Amino acid sequence: MLALSLYNALSRKKEIFVPINKKQVGLYTCGPTVYNFAHIGNLRTYLFEDFLRRVLEYNNYKVKHIMNITDVGHLTGDMDMGEDKMEKGAQREGKSAWEIAELYTEAFKQDTRRLNILDPSSYHKVTDNIPEQIALISKLEKKGYTYKTKDGIYFDTSKVKNYNKLSHLPLETLREGARVEKNPEKRNPTDFALWKFSPLDSKRQMEWDSPWGVGFPGWHIECSAISLKYLSKNLDIHCGGADHINIHHTNEIAQSESATGKKFFNYWLHGAFLNISGGKKMAKSEDGFLTLNSALIKKGLNPLVYRFAASQVNYRKPMEYGENNLRQAEQGLNKLWEQVAALGSKKGNINSEFQVKFLTAVNDDLNIPKALAVLAAVLKSNLIAADKLATALDFDKVFGFDLKNAASYINSVVKSSDLPASIQKLSQERLIARKNKDWAESDNLRNKIQAAGYLVEDTANGQELKKI
Ligand code: AMP
Ligand code: ZN
Repeated sequence: MLALSLYNALSRKKEIFVPINKKQVGLYTCGPTVYNFAHIGNLRTYLFEDFLRRVLEYNNYKVKHIMNITDVGHLTGDMDMGEDKMEKGAQREGKSAWEIAELYTEAFKQDTRRLNILDPSSYHKVTDNIPEQIALISKLEKKGYTYKTKDGIYFDTSKVKNYNKLSHLPLETLREGARVEKNPEKRNPTDFALWKFSPLDSKRQMEWDSPWGVGFPGWHIECSAISLKYLSKNLDIHCGGADHINIHHTNEIAQSESATGKKFFNYWLHGAFLNISGGKKMAKSEDGFLTLNSALIKKGLNPLVYRFAASQVNYRKPMEYGENNLRQAEQGLNKLWEQVAALGSKKGNINSEFQVKFLTAVNDDLNIPKALAVLAAVLKSNLIAADKLATALDFDKVFGFDLKNAASYINSVVKSSDLPASIQKLSQERLIARKNKDWAESDNLRNKIQAAGYLVEDTANGQELKKI
């Protein structure tokens, strides 16, 4: 079956994807909050969204991909209480909130590009779309969905039919979840802020005039305003991490559908978490916060190793972080690059039988792990090298492993006589340590050699050194 099917959180089923407009698919992905680096958990979600975008394009859809940049007014608690994350980040680093936003927006773009994640068609800063958010809140106000408390304008969730249509949780459970940070003036625990007032006793760095007073938008309104503005005719697919289902996306749907009277996005897709030990999700505010830099680059791993690791786990299944997992992924990706580089550069033909298998895998709700198995089968098959290459490069439109440049990633073995004398000495010492079964010393010497710029591999031919 070749039609693209996607698991839709609204129906909790895999559904055949049918776009509103055949010529162009609208894809909205909730963007980063730019008060710190993205962690590799966040990046897992952006990788899943990138595989989705690439699979849509592989199916010949033109994709209009919109992403917001949350550069304001997102409080530390999901329920509109707590400190402002941007101002907190600014304090931490002795910069202005605007500078912090700029800095981490650029860091985000650098990280995603290093992972070969395609840039969206356009990014939209929340601070560039304040009038649109105010207009949407005014619309909700006119229709009677809002009320005012001491600290802001709130959305009355009791006025919405099927408030739980995305989460499928009993309203009681949603209310319990929302009760953690209670605001006594809220009419219902699940009600949320559309507009927050600036405190009377201090001036915020980021604040705007509005019909309700000086303040800043609540968190959820940004994604509704930005997606309705840029994707009004293509409300096809909306994505984020699984933590967005019960609050953020639920509230986006409630306010958007109340304002427009129309369905807001047909397909809702969510990526499962990257967990640290013990099934705990990686979070920005806790220990175990690992960035692309700290988890990969600083350890001498190519960022694409993380892309490869993420491709091995289905996007709806949790992924476990572990240094060993990354090392294994590194071996897998290096092997793939070596195999592809060995195919040469002659032009060949894409093998249509394998292509159908590949398309069947990726179109089955993005089964990328299965698609990898199809690639492995191509490389093992008895096709001629040029056809294997053409087929692998075709699949790489979805994988994004930069297979066309595979040869440039391969570290070649350096002949012993070409090694600097100091490295020759260390490698001799390591051979002796291994002969004496002194594994601790052997590892210690491997680290020293690596620090000097050479990878050590123990192969069937003995110890081999490759320039990093
Ligand atoms: P934030 O910058 O906090 O708004 O998060 C950016 C994206 O990362 C959102 O789509 C979140 O749902 C997602 N996310 C947050 N934590 C994790 C995690 N541990 N694993 C995967 N995705 C996550
Ligand atoms: Zn969002």
